[in-house]
Amino acid sequence: MSVSNVLSFDLEHWYSATLLRDSVCDKDTHIEESVDIVLDILADYDVTATFFVVGDVARRYPELVASIADAGHEIGSHGDTHRPLFDLSPKQFAAELDRSTQAIRDAVGSTPVGFRAPNFSVTPQTQWAIEVLEAAGYRYDSSVFPVRTPMYGVSGAPIRPYTLDPNAPFEEREGGGQLTELPLAVFHPRLKLPVAGGFYARLLPTWLLKRGVRTLNAHGLPATMYFHPWEFNPAVRTTAVSAHERLISFHGIDGLQTKLATLLDAFAFTTADAVVQRADGDER
Ligand SMILES: [Zn+2]
Repeated sequence: MSVSNVLSFDLEHWYSATLLRDSVCDKDTHIEESVDIVLDILADYDVTATFFVVGDVARRYPELVASIADAGHEIGSHGDTHRPLFDLSPKQFAAELDRSTQAIRDAVGSTPVGFRAPNFSVTPQTQWAIEVLEAAGYRYDSSVFPVRTPMYGVSGAPIRPYTLDPNAPFEEREGGGQLTELPLAVFHPRLKLPVAGGFYARLLPTWLLKRGVRTLNAHGLPATMYFHPWEFNPAVRTTAVSAHERLISFHGIDGLQTKLATLLDAFAFTTADAVVQRADGDER
């Protein structure tokens, strides 16, 4: 049985990344052009994906977001202002989620069921977010990064899709909870190397990314991958940031289109919602 992997794109302004937020002056967004590049690749490979869209982007570019949905892709929420949950209270997050849900509904005419936190900021510190998502009617979350990194991550969190128990959100338990979690892909079983996308996909060689996805799939597990449309657009590169910021933010942009094409050639990908529905079906 072949495993379908999750292909997702976080749609924010490229300078929303925490590292760049304060240092970028040229805020030309290139957002429409970046989305077009990605939509063309997906159309070439006849693949549907999930776009986790920031509410602010849905309000400012409703036609762009509608064009993504019209091409058959799923639209999920990526918060309203791209503030990580670490910076929000439960009440502020509920308000952010509500505004982003509404903005997406206004743009595409349907209600998002999936959420990805900016900076993968669902950790033990912010696990109150699970109940907020449940109360808002969301069906799945894809924010748990099962490796501890300097900026985010939860070491020891499950690497397979699992039901989120609000009282123990980083453990696989029977029952308890309305949300399915789709953790970001890490190399199984021992290495725990993040192969999920973004910076890691730009840094790591294609053969290693392929081995990561193949290893997960060999265990019957989907790889949940994430990218940003701007990562496929060389026009967003800038010299206005430090060498460290340039490495994290822009390293490998030139090769990423080819890398993604190679992955799409080698493996099956679909939307997060489709994988969640399949996981729910398997449990019944
Ligand atoms: Zn983001």
